[in-house]
Amino acid sequence: MLKQIKGLHHVTSLASDARENNAFFTNVLGLRRIKKTVNFDAPDVYHLYYGDEAGTPGTVMTYFPFPNAARGAKGIGEVGRTAFSIPVGSSQAWIDRLTTFEVKGILQDVRFGEKRVLFDGPDGDQFALVESDDDRTPWTGNGVGEAMGIHGFHSADMRLKDAGVSGELLQFMGYEKLDQQDNITRFIVPGGNDANTIDIEELPSAGHAAQGAGSVHHIAFAVENRARQLEVREALLDTGYQVTPVIDRDYFYAIYFRTPGGVLFEVATNEPGFDRDEDTAHLGEALKLPSRHEHLRGHLESRLQPLDS
Ligand code: ZN
Repeated sequence: MLKQIKGLHHVTSLASDARENNAFFTNVLGLRRIKKTVNFDAPDVYHLYYGDEAGTPGTVMTYFPFPNAARGAKGIGEVGRTAFSIPVGSSQAWIDRLTTFEVKGILQDVRFGEKRVLFDGPDGDQFALVESDDDRTPWTGNGVGEAMGIHGFHSADMRLKDAGVSGELLQFMGYEKLDQQDNITRFIVPGGNDANTIDIEELPSAGHAAQGAGSVHHIAFAVENRARQLEVREALLDTGYQVTPVIDRDYFYAIYFRTPGGVLFEVATNEPGFDRDEDTAHLGEALKLPSRHEHLRGHLESRLQPLDS
């Protein structure tokens, strides 16, 4: 069993409108935009990152907003709901706030003893805010104060036909089975980074998901550095997974592999971090391009939709 993985690093999803996406995560949820760059493989499209002050691994929600992308269809073989951690007792303040912003899909429930506020993002993305003890410092602003600020990710849900092989994979990656409630099995990394919970939701008769706007594209797990990442890569290859070579994503190094249930996993390093090319005080303000796309700057600046700060 691996010991290098500490929980989530980031979650990456698809959107249909960059301005709307930016406004939702900054103005409504009160996260900080910590990087404005492009999809390195399709530089006509933004890659927007939202998180805490520094973009600490385990807080970072990222988006590829493909203009006018069709919505995805929910189903198995994907990450369903992405959950953020909020202070205990702040659910009602969030319900009031989300209601003021006319956010859709607001519901409340309790999972494994924790109160949750469920809601939809602009493209029907499914989110939850989970009341939990969490001492990570939230980013505050835009009317979201410390008493209700988002600490980072709480967990992500994988929707699968059955939990079997993916549950075994999570356990190989260092997660332990914690609890079960109805068709939900909870896995947690002991001593992880607070974003260290994965729930598997078993839906034996559901159809397969179709990816589109509002779908999670992949989830990334955090390792400390490149040496730990190479150990994880070797171990996955030895177990029979097809893992990509290490790819330089400027702010972290990434490897990718697809799980038997169809979900794309990434393992990303905590180094070098989002302050690699701009001061922490100004993260996310300027358009940052990888050096190989720098020659496209004029073209991209005229094509990419301007964002509100
Ligand atoms: Zn990623």
